[in-house]
Amino acid sequence: MPEHDLRIFIDLDGVCCDWVGKAIQTFGINADDIDVSRILSSCDFSVNKLVSERYMWDIIDDFGPQWWEDIAIFPWAKRLWNECSQLGETCFLTKPSKEGSSAAGKLNWIKEHFCTDRFMIGPRKHLLASPNSVLIDDMYENVANFIQWGGHAKLFPNAFEVMSREQTNFRIEGFDERTIQTRRGQAMDIHVNAIISDVRRIRDGET
Ligand SMILES: [Mg+2]
Repeated sequence: MPEHDLRIFIDLDGVCCDWVGKAIQTFGINADDIDVSRILSSCDFSVNKLVSERYMWDIIDDFGPQWWEDIAIFPWAKRLWNECSQLGETCFLTKPSKEGSSAAGKLNWIKEHFCTDRFMIGPRKHLLASPNSVLIDDMYENVANFIQWGGHAKLFPNAFEVMSREQTNFRIEGFDERTIQTRRGQAMDIHVNAIISDVRRIRDGET
C-alpha cells in the first residue's frame, strides 16, 4: 500500500488526553482508594460507576468548553501523532458529548496542543472505516465497530490502569515518587510503541 493511502484516525480522550484525570479532579474522586482504583481500571469508561451519569454530564456541561480545553495532554500524545503522521494521513477522530460545548472545547484543545486542521469531531467513527484506514481508540466498542465496518483498529490501553498498576508495584518496592512517575510513563511508552509498530505493519500490508 503506498504510504499516503493509509488513513490513521487517533482518538482524543483516553489516548491523547487524560479525561479520567480531569473527571477525578472535577468530582473529587479518591483514586488512591483501592476499590475506586479497581473500578477506574476495570473498563474504558468507568467514571459513571462512581458518579451518576446524569449528574456527571450536568456538571461537565455547566463548565462549558473550558472543561474540555483544560484536560491535560498525555506525555506520549505528540510522539504518537508525529510517528503516525510519518506512516500515513493522520487525523484526530473524537466523539463529543451531547452538549455543543464539548465539540467547541475539543476544537480549542486541538488548536492549542497541535495547531492542526486535521481533525473530525463526530459520534459515528465507524463510518470512516475502510481497508485503508486504522483507528486508534481506547473504547472496545469503537474498535470492534470499526473492524466490523471494514477498517483496521488498535485498542489503546486504559492509561489509568497501566499507570496505577505501575505506581502500586513501584511503591511496594519502595521507589521514590519521582522514579515512580518516570516508570509510569515508560510503561505507557511500551504500549504506544507496540501500537505504532502495528500501524506500520498495516501500512506495509502485513496484517
Ligand atoms: Mg476515548
